Amino acid sequence: MSEKTTAQMLKEKLFKNNKNGYFKASEQDIKEAYTFSEDYKTFLTRSKTERLFASNICELAQKNGYTAFDPQKKYKSGDKVYLLHRNKAVLLCVFGKQPLEKGLRIAAAHIDSPRIDLKPNPIYEADELGYFKTHYYGGIKKYQWPTIPLCLYGVVYKADGSSVTVSIGEKPEDPKFVITDLLPHLAVEQQKRTLAEGIKGEELNILIGSRPFQDDEASEAVKLNLLNLLFEKYGITEGDFQSAELEFVPAFDACDIGLDRSLIGGYGHDDRVCSYPAAMASFAVESPEKTTLTVLTDKEEIGSEGNTGLQSAYMVNFIKDIAKAAGTDAYIVLRNSQCLSADVNAAHDPTFADVTEKNNAAFINKGVVITKYTGSRGKSGTSDANAEYMGFIRKLLNDNNVVWQTGELGKVDAGGGGTVAMYIANLDVDTVDLGVPVLSMHAPFEVISKLDLYMAYRAFVAFFR
Ligand code: MN
Ligand code: MN
Repeated sequence: MSEKTTAQMLKEKLFKNNKNGYFKASEQDIKEAYTFSEDYKTFLTRSKTERLFASNICELAQKNGYTAFDPQKKYKSGDKVYLLHRNKAVLLCVFGKQPLEKGLRIAAAHIDSPRIDLKPNPIYEADELGYFKTHYYGGIKKYQWPTIPLCLYGVVYKADGSSVTVSIGEKPEDPKFVITDLLPHLAVEQQKRTLAEGIKGEELNILIGSRPFQDDEASEAVKLNLLNLLFEKYGITEGDFQSAELEFVPAFDACDIGLDRSLIGGYGHDDRVCSYPAAMASFAVESPEKTTLTVLTDKEEIGSEGNTGLQSAYMVNFIKDIAKAAGTDAYIVLRNSQCLSADVNAAHDPTFADVTEKNNAAFINKGVVITKYTGSRGKSGTSDANAEYMGFIRKLLNDNNVVWQTGELGKVDAGGGGTVAMYIANLDVDTVDLGVPVLSMHAPFEVISKLDLYMAYRAFVAFFR
């Protein structure tokens, strides 16, 4: 073995260790990353909407000894509660050894993902084909959504006030749905459109059938047949769509990507690739020092507005409830709290390398990514985590052998985006974004690394403990 030169030794001392996570993580960690990923893939496939994710997590919470939150009750160290908020967001709380006024450890991730929603009056027939009109949800590249199999999930409230849950297309034997696109032979004019307009919003029409109702001379026989099928299966009529939330999402399962199976492809990694490990960490940490709060929120993809989003009061109201029961004030709890805003960041994509700046981009397999600020145009629309808190998180991750990296959301002025970080920081909570780097973010089929996913889990465990 050759001796190290002075330059090599100095480099090791002074340069940041920027190695691939596979050269930093232990054999055991790598093995556990692959095992953890198996459960994640199954959960992701089963939880493609915010409602499904919320109910599946509550089911797991119950299995892990969590009870439904009672605002009147005074909880003690080691107690575990969950709150299902309006069926679309979940809070998981584990009461810590330290008093509540010492603050919470909050991990906040979102469980909504970009998708195709139905309009309130969706069903129509055109040239003897049946369709649904849609209104997309979140930031999508519309051209990515035609010609892939879609399934339908949601809930419908009927005229009599009763409700029915809809799920079509996930089981192998189920029919699927699709948005059609023009054949290249006849797309001379369409191909001149910009990519943004390649498929327009009002062209995201979903093909749902073609067979007319039999023995009937009436017009719209295809639509009639489709409504009749829906009535037979769910007891719903055309007007019931007006009191429904129905969402089209990709029909394919999460799966391994690559010869080495190091990656996972699937729908909705943003942000279930953070929500899932945050929840699993909450389940894993039995008796934390400080009370932990895992927030699995809705509506992030459309700006966190609405009463299930984090611009609403629901999280603070929960903190007010537990503070009151503990004989303290929510503002004191918040002031002493720390938060990981658990959201994804863009992974550097060598095919589109010009949108990232390599010294500050997040890379696949370099671990969980800390994003000090997001926003756009000179850090506008973001909370910019302070050096004190960055230092605290950096030490925490290093002390716990978590493989991590920092990442900016793209080059300066390349675009931008936001997370829930600023809404929590605005409550006087130390907050920074931490999550998993994603390739093809917001596409119907996104890609992440197994090692990065597992390091996110390890980061949440370290933070909660
Ligand atoms: Mn996100
Ligand atoms: Mn997003």
